[in-house]
Amino acid sequence: MSRFTSHMALALAEARAAADRGEVPVGAVVVAPDGRVAAAAGNRTRELSDPTAHAEILAIRAACRAAGSERLPGHDLWVTLEPCPMCASAISAARIGRLYYGASDPRMGGVDHGARVFDHPQCHHRPQVYDGLGADPSRALLQGFFRNRR
Ligand SMILES: [Zn+2]
Repeated sequence: MSRFTSHMALALAEARAAADRGEVPVGAVVVAPDGRVAAAAGNRTRELSDPTAHAEILAIRAACRAAGSERLPGHDLWVTLEPCPMCASAISAARIGRLYYGASDPRMGGVDHGARVFDHPQCHHRPQVYDGLGADPSRALLQGFFRNRR
């Protein structure tokens, strides 16, 4: 059994960097089975003019590229906010082993709210899900970001 290390601090740093770029502050980190950080990313939907450029998607793409594989078995994904349905589907398709997310997202989330993607019988791979890690700083970042935009 390997020692447990939280990667939420790195995910939060990516979220902060996203906010500095004027993007919705969400950050994600993919961790390889050996504990190495395989990829880290923040939202870039505005910069890339791409509605799919969520932090989770960008991190999964980079980790898959590095692994030379469309699947990431045994990898963990850390993200500051509950993934939306699109990202939850990508997490399932990538065969991510464990999902750690920070703040819950009753409005856009698709894991424990709304579509509840992993609970569908059509969902062939369900990661272990752990929520609430780093939820407070994640929520504070999001609230600060949207407050400043009004
Ligand atoms: Zn998403």
